[in-house]
Amino acid sequence: MANEANPFESLQEQIDDASAYIDADDGVLERLKNPERVLETNLTFERDDGSLETLRAFRSQFNGDRGPYKGGIRYHPGVTRDEVKALSGWMVYKCAVVDIPYGGGKGGIEIDPEQYSEDELERITRAFATELRPIIGEDRDVPAPDVNTGQREMNWIKDTYETLENTTAPGVITGKAIDSGGSEGRVEATGRSVMITAREVFDYLGEQIEGTSVAVQGYGNAGSVAAKLLEDLGANIVAVSDSSGGIYNPRGFDARDVKAFKTETGSVSGHDEAVEEISNEDLLTLDVDLLIPAALENAIDAEIAEEVQADVVVEAANGPLTPGADDVLTGSNTWVVPDILANAGGVTVSYFEWVQNRQRFSWTEERVNDELEAVICDAFDGLIDAYEEHDTPNLRTAAYVVAIERVLDAFEQGGTWP
Ligand code: NAD
Repeated sequence: MANEANPFESLQEQIDDASAYIDADDGVLERLKNPERVLETNLTFERDDGSLETLRAFRSQFNGDRGPYKGGIRYHPGVTRDEVKALSGWMVYKCAVVDIPYGGGKGGIEIDPEQYSEDELERITRAFATELRPIIGEDRDVPAPDVNTGQREMNWIKDTYETLENTTAPGVITGKAIDSGGSEGRVEATGRSVMITAREVFDYLGEQIEGTSVAVQGYGNAGSVAAKLLEDLGANIVAVSDSSGGIYNPRGFDARDVKAFKTETGSVSGHDEAVEEISNEDLLTLDVDLLIPAALENAIDAEIAEEVQADVVVEAANGPLTPGADDVLTGSNTWVVPDILANAGGVTVSYFEWVQNRQRFSWTEERVNDELEAVICDAFDGLIDAYEEHDTPNLRTAAYVVAIERVLDAFEQGGTWP
């Protein structure tokens, strides 16, 4: 990524920026900037050749004032304790901004999953689930998928937990396959909220999403679904990329076709509709109406931000802008829809999945999508109200004001004890 900004420091800076608009004791603000606890552990497992290997893994439980800790588990070689702490904090404020009754957590294993067989990944995942067992639970901490994890890993974690606890507890984890208690609409939920917030911000600006040109960095789950749904609204997906590079066509790609190509070949590069193969940096600085960073954090630093030409940036990834980039884009009047709202569709439908698990009752995909639409639109309206009422410099600070006030209310209503 472009910049080595520490994501945990970025989170703390975002909270400091918002705290200027909030009436709270410094001592309480300090609480809002740091995790309640972090598990750091060794996972020792057997490789297929019989040798033993040990990986580092983390779970950060940032804040539980509004409900069980909630947040994904990431498998990536770049996972660090500080990254997991930052991601868990972003989950707190994400759940609060969309007003679902969860706190925030996040986990990760420092691993390149491509280097391991499926059997090895299962042993690693079950080893992690065993370490997590004392601290997770339907009412304690509810993990979910994140980068390089999906239904398969969630099913293994659920099975390990239920076996060790001698119970059934599908709500201990979300993002499961449908037959293991997953929800309709979960796989598409993050991209769907990216689409909804993009549509709403263009509407707020008095512009149509139809006909806009869109560049998407990171054509994975969040990015490719957002592209597909925006295309359905008439937007033109002119550039997409993944870790091996990007492709550009000013007339636009068929988003579903590019996804099918990536699934088949492992990359978007080489797609026959590409007029030009471009770098990720080229993609970020294209002259488009809408830019969607959907890869990892710190994709855009201040230097790249100086070159960004998009009018609107909708953050599908968590933390894709460094604080320096945020300042530059605020200065250039670029509208940035912050991650804690834009990608909140994933955790919102995770919440719906958990509700369905607790009720032992399944909703239709139509109901899931309708409820999601309502939650994200309400949250967007609340964000705009805060932006206008407090005259914050950008939408991110407004989102943190809304979210922090909700967490503070829950904390204060609970009181301090002893
Ligand atoms: P994913 O693994 O499905 O996709 C990530 C994509 O990014 C891949 O195509 C990968 O090739 C690409 N990528 C990696 N490094 C890159 C680089 N340097 N330049 C360009 N592309 C690069 O992951 P995902 O689930 O889509 O998650 C993407 C982002 O969205 C992450 O920040 C994640 O935390 C966030 N997010 C995901 C969800 C969800 O439900 N999937 C929910 C909320 C937030």
